[in-house]
Amino acid sequence: MNIIERYDRDILYYEFQELKKISFVNHLFSSKIGWNSENIIENISKIFNVSKSNVLYLTQIHSNHIEIIDEKTLNYGKILGKEGDGLITDLSNIVLMTYHADCVPIYFLDKEKRVVGLAHGGWRGSFENISGNMIRTFIEKFNSNPKDILVAIGPSIGPCCYEISKELGDKFIKKYNDFQDILIKRDSSIYLDLWKLNYLQVRKMGILDENIISSNACTSCNIDKFYSYRKEATQDRMVAAISLS
Ligand SMILES: [Zn+2]
Repeated sequence: MNIIERYDRDILYYEFQELKKISFVNHLFSSKIGWNSENIIENISKIFNVSKSNVLYLTQIHSNHIEIIDEKTLNYGKILGKEGDGLITDLSNIVLMTYHADCVPIYFLDKEKRVVGLAHGGWRGSFENISGNMIRTFIEKFNSNPKDILVAIGPSIGPCCYEISKELGDKFIKKYNDFQDILIKRDSSIYLDLWKLNYLQVRKMGILDENIISSNACTSCNIDKFYSYRKEATQDRMVAAISLS
């Protein structure tokens, strides 16, 4: 795994070394240890040192829809309950948060313009190219240069475990026929590489290879630390979170 384990008292969470180095950004990916469905917002609020009402999340619908949080749209009451799978902000002390159990968390940071984004990419959101849509939104709404954007792909079900049907595989081949190796054939089964798919989608939008970090952490292979919907049929979720300080 290409991520760092951190403990805050008895709460375990993960960080990317490359994002940790940047002084004006806070981020994490939660775990099974010290987290449950009741204490997520409280834990995030404590770790990020913001009030609970500054923790923003959407009702996730496996789409490529992204909500922008800026001075004009910042109304907690109106944001909570909105549907979508991506959040972007240039405001400080606002924590963007997404829920995950196998679906890919994708973190975005424009180091120059100081904008952060977070996406929830299961097969549907990834099929609909939420990562590409995120980069497009950075460029169009925040005037970002793709060369300044860092992308981090967090813990989620890996190509080792994410078996899909032939029908679904065909759908991906048809839409992404220019992408190499997003499907892997093993024995008589087909596996989808969501990490590679999101990687190729942001590369196509002009993100530099050296600015894409992958955790290479499979939730299904590591159920001592992570919840896996596929492996455990759990209702529990981890969260990804990012903020500007
Ligand atoms: Zn695995």
